[in-house]
Amino acid sequence: MAELAKQTASAGTNAEILIEHIGMTYHTDGGEDVPALSDVNLSVAKGEFISLLGPSGCGKTTLLRIIADLLQPTSGKIQVAGETPHEVRMQKKYGIVFQSPVLYDWRTVRRNIRLPLEIMKLPKQEQEARVNHMLELVGLTEFGDHYPFELSGGMQQRVGIARALAINPEILLMDEPFSALDEFTKEKLHEDLLRIWRKTNKTIVFVTHNIAESVFLSDRVCVLSPHPGRLSAIVDITLPRPRTAEVRSLPEFSQLVAKIRASFEGV
Ligand code: ADP
Ligand code: MG
Repeated sequence: MAELAKQTASAGTNAEILIEHIGMTYHTDGGEDVPALSDVNLSVAKGEFISLLGPSGCGKTTLLRIIADLLQPTSGKIQVAGETPHEVRMQKKYGIVFQSPVLYDWRTVRRNIRLPLEIMKLPKQEQEARVNHMLELVGLTEFGDHYPFELSGGMQQRVGIARALAINPEILLMDEPFSALDEFTKEKLHEDLLRIWRKTNKTIVFVTHNIAESVFLSDRVCVLSPHPGRLSAIVDITLPRPRTAEVRSLPEFSQLVAKIRASFEGV
């Protein structure tokens, strides 16, 4: 707990996301109360890559949805760059990537990425320029005129990332975006995501139940324990950057994975 207190304080007053005493209890239609989160405190620095890690049901999605203003917490306070999540959402400063990219089958890749820009009513030329830039960023320039069903799962998720980044958000929220992909595709996407992160300077909150994935990607890993979900540890990932495939074979990588796995024991 001492480590947690220190870490929570570490991002200090210039925190991009400040989560204080957040609690969430779902009230079901059957009249049952389901406690999903209890007293979560976390401070995320601007430009940081942070993971929320834990087993299914520990409240990761709930916390991400609270940050995104898709869900109101039952207690506690959250500020994003000094504003409420609602204000931040209204200003389109969030980009969200879900496990399934939810693409429109009848729209080409290009037109899927363009959709949020059409909704924002940006000038046509600006829309085109941004879409081209996004296609390049995610490595899909040659697939702009293809339809989603013509793409592999990994490529579809790249479209999801491009669409989320097209509005140029400050914060990218990702909920298990790669968990349905095979290991090879996943590892390639990890490296590409880190390259995109470096290039765009976004703050990323990444939800996963995969320990190695969280270690490879993050600056810090927030370990959540279930019943009810709470932050049980925050682990600094001191691996060098840029992180390439070789990082996975470093002894320090395995040590961090082991350390995090151990933090789940006894919870
Ligand atoms: P995770 O993303 O870590 O798997 P969730 O945030 O989805 O966890 O869920 C946390 C807990 O809250 C679980 O016990 C889940 O069953 C419960 N829960 C999630 N959404 C709802 C809901 N809409 N109504 C009732 N309970 C819910
Ligand atoms: Mg979830």
